[in-house]
Order: sequence, then structure tokens, then C-alpha cells
Amino acid sequence: MADEAMEELIDTHCHLASKRYVSGTEVREQSRALGLSHCISQGTHPKDWDATLALTREMPDFVSACLAVHPSDCTEVDEEQWERMKELCRENPLAAIGEAGLDYYWDAPEGWEEDAYRARQRNFLERHFELARELQLNISLHTRDKVGAGDACFEDAFSIARQFPSVRPVFHCFIGSQRQAERVFEQLNGMISFTGLITFKKTEAVQAVAAWCPEDRFMVETDSPYLSPEPHRGELNIPGRVRYVAEKLAELRGVSLSEIARITSRNAHRFFRLPG
Ligand SMILES: [Zn+2]
Ligand SMILES: [Zn+2]
Repeated sequence: MADEAMEELIDTHCHLASKRYVSGTEVREQSRALGLSHCISQGTHPKDWDATLALTREMPDFVSACLAVHPSDCTEVDEEQWERMKELCRENPLAAIGEAGLDYYWDAPEGWEEDAYRARQRNFLERHFELARELQLNISLHTRDKVGAGDACFEDAFSIARQFPSVRPVFHCFIGSQRQAERVFEQLNGMISFTGLITFKKTEAVQAVAAWCPEDRFMVETDSPYLSPEPHRGELNIPGRVRYVAEKLAELRGVSLSEIARITSRNAHRFFRLPG
């Protein structure tokens, strides 16, 4: 059970509608036992938009929703589906638009040239920002560059975000440099969030960013069912395991777990405009 004095944790990025979960309510109970109070689930494909919204109706105190098209799925979504998603976003209470973004890590799908694939991703990201601006929502942003191949993905997403000053981005699963984080804060009024990656070996660079980051600029997330933190690396992840991410942050920053919970929950409440 969570320590009575501890503030409760919020997982700001998970995929609770994932087919890898048998039961949402079971995940809720397992997560609550680890001290989780709330999670923000990303519906990122036409197949999980409705399921994600259904979870918010089933467990309104536990789940809030974001909807978007994941950049890796942008070639699978036609205009009709895009219009449907916009309608769902207009008709349902959302915590943010997300997760949208750019992914230059994976190669273009069959039948697509790399340049055309990336151009389509950028076009979709602009459309997500337009929608976020229209609905006065913030955006959960995915960026991933190929290892050792520069920062084109981050830079392209950054340039697009700059065109929409009223929309605040959170760079989810942040693994960039301190300089990049500073630019996100200063030029985009954005946030970053840390996953279980910071508990893995050989992630000293992002651990240093986590130790340094100003306290009003970071949140915690699991990206579950992926990225299970140590000591559960490789297993099916659940939102409650954001606790291990928070514990690592407490260790890196030399503060208590309660303090990390207090800071990150306050930041999540503001960024996602959560009730209460
Ligand atoms: Zn992502
Ligand atoms: Zn995700």
C-alpha cells in the first residue's frame, strides 16, 4: 500500500486500451496498490480511439484520455478517419491531443519513399497542432531520431511547435540533451517527461538532465505497456510502475519520493488541466 503521507502519483502517458491488457479494472487495482491515483491514456490509432474514451467513462476518476494519430500510423489513416477523430476530440472531454509527433527511427513502410513518409508525418503533426489550438488543448509529443543520425526529428518537431505558441507541448519519453530541454522550456513554454528509461543502465546522459531539470518542467510517465522500468525491465508494464520512475528521480535529485510525487502531480494537473 502507498505510504499514507505520500502524495499520489500521476502517470502522464500510457496506452491503457492496448490489446496487451486483459482488463482495465485489473490494471487499475494493481496500479493503485503501487500508489497511482490517475493516468492519462493515449488513443493513437483508429482502433483504440473508442476504447480509450470508453475507459474514461468506465473509470473517470482513474483515466483521462488523449486522442491522436501516432506518427508511425499516419500512412494507415485516411481523411474519413481523420475527420472522425476530430469529431471525437470535439465531442469528448480530453486531457490533451496525443500522442502525435514525428518518428524518424523506423524506416518508411512498404510503398513509401523516406522523404514522402516524413513529409506526411510533418503534415499530420501540423494538423494535430491546429486541432489543439482550436480546442485550446496542449499536446503530448513523440519524437524519435535514429541513434547516431542527428536531431532532425527533434528539430522538425520543434519548428512546427514554434508556429503554435498557444499550444504547450510535452516532449514525452524525453531522452534529449539539457540544451534541447532548455529550448523546449524557453522557446515553447513546454515540458518534458521521463519514462522507465531513466532506470536503465547506460542512460547517464538523460539521468543528468533529470537531476538538473527545473521542478516546474517535468512529469513522469510509463508509456505502458512498453518500457517497464527496473527492476521489471522486459515485462508487461502498467501505469502503477511510474512509481519506479519517480523513485529514480528522487534518488537522482536527492529528495524524497513524496516530494517527486507532489511536484510531478502538480505539474500534470496544470498541464493536462485535470479536475481537483
Ligand atoms: Zn511515443
Ligand atoms: Zn506512447
